Amino acid sequence: MSDLLDFFAHRADAALSLLRGLVEMESPSTDKTAVDRVVRSVAERARAAGAEVRVVPQQRWGDHLLARWGDGEGGFLLLCHLDTVWPIGTLAERPWRVEGERAFGPGVYDDKASAAIILTALEGLRAMGLSPRYPVTVLFNSDEEVGSPSSRPLIEAEAARARVVFCMEPARPDGALKVWRKGTGRYVVTALGRATHAGADHERGINAVEELAHQVLRLQRMTDYGAGTTVNVGRIEGGTRTNIVPDRARVWVDVRVKTTAEWERISAAIEALTPVLPGARLVVEGRMSRPPMEASPVTLEPFRRAQEIAAGLGLALTADGTGGASDANFTAAMGIPTLDGLGALGDGAHSVDEYVFIPSLAERAALLAALLVEW
Ligand SMILES: [Zn+2]
Repeated sequence: MSDLLDFFAHRADAALSLLRGLVEMESPSTDKTAVDRVVRSVAERARAAGAEVRVVPQQRWGDHLLARWGDGEGGFLLLCHLDTVWPIGTLAERPWRVEGERAFGPGVYDDKASAAIILTALEGLRAMGLSPRYPVTVLFNSDEEVGSPSSRPLIEAEAARARVVFCMEPARPDGALKVWRKGTGRYVVTALGRATHAGADHERGINAVEELAHQVLRLQRMTDYGAGTTVNVGRIEGGTRTNIVPDRARVWVDVRVKTTAEWERISAAIEALTPVLPGARLVVEGRMSRPPMEASPVTLEPFRRAQEIAAGLGLALTADGTGGASDANFTAAMGIPTLDGLGALGDGAHSVDEYVFIPSLAERAALLAALLVEW
């Protein structure tokens, strides 16, 4: 199978120009027309590579795309998102460019390179006359960067009939796959007091900003780096003018946990917050948006299998994790074997320095092709 590396190395230029085409179609999650355009383009390409394609129309978000090579239960499910965090116009400011072995552009690493890798791998297998061992479904979704609100049911329905899920999110900068990801949640905590005149009636007022200040310190102290738990008060708002005792103040809180047990501990602690000032009230709203993907047999067993297959290509695969969540969090939480981080090597997701390490496009296409044939 080591000739796979060679075969895809000869397709490296084609993979790079495919990636360029995808980057040059901007696709912020919030612009349905723009995302739909990329979806149509990928659908055409997948159809030409022998897939049966189905566009799943959406009202608010971009349409989702299912591309199937073969059908039936117990196949591979590949996840890849076509939306990016970058607004239209970013490309004009930071156009596609190649410097040495690095390619730059909005969304190049997260996650357009993965779409290029998937299409390159499946086109390559077809050109070689090789078939994946089991049916392949690729779900290209359009709302991942906003938490997959409309694609989650589709992801879960497809995962339920899959043998294994390959989440084609970017690899770690050193190429490591992701065998754990933190779960994420958001809370809004509102303090309510009593508004009075700051000069004439200060002592009758209940200062909601003061109340919330106590709660901010409590929230921040819930962070436990040892357990992998962070609680971040990321935004605050309160009061109206300096001569009024404020009756309302709010904070927005980001919670990240490595384990479900930690999520339960933190959510119980946040819900149990009690006011410090006599007469003040607290309103707590929030939920977990993606459950944690814990390092467990669900992720470690497919990782070991992938490691063996990669070794046959002469590639050494390593495993790591990240504080960011992905769609793999959903499928791992269902207990479906899930392998994440099979996308390109690079760095700087969601930042202006985002880039892809160009040689990894062909290498990851070869790896994916090998996984599909040998699994
Ligand atoms: Zn991504």
